[in-house]
Amino acid sequence: MSKETDIPELPKEITPQSQDFGRWYIDVVRRAELADYSPVKGCMVIRPYGYAIWELMQQGLDRRFKATGHVNAYFPLFIPQSLLMKEAEHVEGFAPQVAWVTRGGTEELEEPLVVRPTSETIIGPMYAKWIQSWRDLPILINQWANVVRWEKVTRLFLRTTEFLWQEGHTAHETAEEAQEETLRMLGVYKDFAENDLAMPVLDGRKTDSEKFAGAERTYSIEALMGDGRALQAGTSHNLGQNFAKVYDITFQGRDKSLQYIWGTSWGVTTRLIGAVVMVHGDEGGLILPPTIAPYQVVIVPIPRGNWRETVLPRAQAIRDELAGRGVRVMLDDRDSQTPGWKFNEWELRGVPLRLEIGPKDIEKSQVVLARRDTREKASAPMEGLAAHVERLLATIQRTLFDRALKFREEHTATADGYDEFKTIMDGRPGFVISPWCGSAACEAEIKAETQATIRNIPLDSPPADGKACLKCGAPATAHAWFAKAY
Ligand SMILES: [Zn+2]
Repeated sequence: MSKETDIPELPKEITPQSQDFGRWYIDVVRRAELADYSPVKGCMVIRPYGYAIWELMQQGLDRRFKATGHVNAYFPLFIPQSLLMKEAEHVEGFAPQVAWVTRGGTEELEEPLVVRPTSETIIGPMYAKWIQSWRDLPILINQWANVVRWEKVTRLFLRTTEFLWQEGHTAHETAEEAQEETLRMLGVYKDFAENDLAMPVLDGRKTDSEKFAGAERTYSIEALMGDGRALQAGTSHNLGQNFAKVYDITFQGRDKSLQYIWGTSWGVTTRLIGAVVMVHGDEGGLILPPTIAPYQVVIVPIPRGNWRETVLPRAQAIRDELAGRGVRVMLDDRDSQTPGWKFNEWELRGVPLRLEIGPKDIEKSQVVLARRDTREKASAPMEGLAAHVERLLATIQRTLFDRALKFREEHTATADGYDEFKTIMDGRPGFVISPWCGSAACEAEIKAETQATIRNIPLDSPPADGKACLKCGAPATAHAWFAKAY
């Protein structure tokens, strides 16, 4: 038996969300043709429809990176063992997940290579060569790449052994500039998530036990999925001078003294596609925000009478007009499928707006528009149709954000005491904000007892003065967002 036969068949029906959210998620991802399992354990195939979403995400992010002064470059996939091993915390954090190359062709390598799990350790030595003086700073480089982390348990898009991402790596003259950059990019991620993905996020600082291996401070954006579990959607790290000291990245300062640079790194991954599925999807399948939908509008002609002579030319003219205005539109004129089948199919695949046109509509000089988000169906006059469609797409984008925000607000609670906290965590998933003393021991005990972790500490944390840690009762230093997470 070949390995391929281990890949389960595509599901015919989608498991109801209410019955098994995890199963529903996988069914939607596979059935909507976003991704599939592959013959390589733990690795996925991103199918054309899923990859088109990734390309639109890349465009939205890349535009923002460039607008904030960043440029793209590319560094090697392989990292010599000795370079990875230099930063102790980093090694400890990543070594258990690293894939090794020990042979090239028939030759044993003198020095084993690792497949990059992230690129600080290959970029650091290059920055050490490129940077001489304060005049060379800042360096603001981003890389679009794949990375490999050997995962034991995987799930399409959310956790796979190989995944696609972008990683920004910057070098600065001062600690203040590095901190500004770290928060600027966190802001870019938040803006992208909320405006392009219609996904509200909580931004804040990670606790020491959850920060990136080798970073001084890690910040994250956290989103709430449809089952009430949180998902880390992006991270931005202030690396301080840790990597600079290890890789000897120095520059001559304005006062002629030799100084170490201040670094940052930040990344988001194809995991965001999974987040979009879980934030917006429903029993009918995927719902895509128009900004990242490969097809924003699908036109389904109703085949009655001599429709190829009457309906089809009108449908083509509408398609051309919409496409001419920059709307991503697809005309599904396949003879092989019925309109009903097409309605279902494009609903399942999350197309925001369906445009139906038949002989009767042409008589009345109108079309029928069906929204995927609300499932509302209404006729619209042919006159001014393109502008109407554009307005509707903007409305759908906004409605999806508002709906997700309302869901998050309904699933957010405050708990000052531990009993109350446990009751909420047991009964109703979602975010809970609670006072915390800052101790890693308390954090670990809470996790062991309730499975809830600290997602982050809000940047604008309400003052915790006079409050007691929900676990140990010691004076609280901050409020923290808790949730069960992916
Ligand atoms: Zn405590």
